[in-house]
Amino acid sequence: MGFHDIKEQIISCRDCAQKFGYTPHPVFHGKAHSKIMQIGQAPSKRVHESGLPFNDPSGAKLKYQWYQITDEIFYNEDNFYMTGLAHCFPGKHPKGGDNPPPLACANKWLTQEMDMVDNEIYIVIGARAAKYLFPKESFEDLVLKNYRINGKPTIVLPHPSPLNVRWFKTHPSFEEKRVPEIKKMVWDVLGLKETDI
Ligand code: SF4
Repeated sequence: MGFHDIKEQIISCRDCAQKFGYTPHPVFHGKAHSKIMQIGQAPSKRVHESGLPFNDPSGAKLKYQWYQITDEIFYNEDNFYMTGLAHCFPGKHPKGGDNPPPLACANKWLTQEMDMVDNEIYIVIGARAAKYLFPKESFEDLVLKNYRINGKPTIVLPHPSPLNVRWFKTHPSFEEKRVPEIKKMVWDVLGLKETDI
């Protein structure tokens, strides 16, 4: 099965319809040769409704504050392949926040996407995504060092959600020291110069 067949199958997947209680809307984005494969956790309700990944406050922080790139660069499929543990919004949790992403989605689809996409680097976003891909590592270590998946450089980021404010307050060195390194890696892979922004 080829890349386009997998994409078509993901788009039409409705495996979680009964569990969610609404029609799933798989959201992902990119090409087989996107330079950066970004693996998040699950789309937010706003992304579920718009169909555009990271079109929410989390995405604003990620794109404009951390990567410091424009939407034009971020949504260029030559640049980013955006996927996640789950491809659909998993619903609201009764105690607040979103439900956890169904890992059956990652087992079924993400593993195939990672085999198919010929990216240069990975960016893993959020503690749940990090735990799935690096089950033995501590999250604190993961966000401060460079790792490798499939032999390719891999960055792990805390979730940029505004709900994660406590983590940022207790880990100020992340935004002071690590974010500039991450921005440089992203810009280097995309071949960006200050005059491009
Ligand atoms: S979350 Fe994944 S497995 Fe569930 S319906 Fe969406 S694409 Fe299918």
